[in-house]
Amino acid sequence: MGEHTGDSLRDLAKSTRAFYARFEVAPETQLQGFITNFNEEVFELVQAALEGTDKRHIAEEAADVFVTAIGVCFASGIEIDQIVEQVYAVAAKNDAKSHETHVVKDGKIRRRVNIQR
Ligand SMILES: [Mg+2]
Repeated sequence: MGEHTGDSLRDLAKSTRAFYARFEVAPETQLQGFITNFNEEVFELVQAALEGTDKRHIAEEAADVFVTAIGVCFASGIEIDQIVEQVYAVAAKNDAKSHETHVVKDGKIRRRVNIQR
């Protein structure tokens, strides 16, 4: 891998971009294949998590999901800066959620709905 920026997401996206370029794969011409790869990696992560015995393996599969999700973005014409920007936007949005605004229901954190009685 090339230079590290200290931003693991940006490093991973740059590595992924370079990886496809090295093999002369043009993601934007192969959306369906990239989606298939992503789905396979999601399945592998789910299997590893359900087995639950090998924590390092679960982390490896999660990293594969990140890489192939980035590939789907590239295949969809989305570039590194936009991915990074959106990740920070989601983090900020989640950071802003509180018990006043959200509630845990059925294992999910959902927007609190005020029911008028
Ligand atoms: Mg995998």
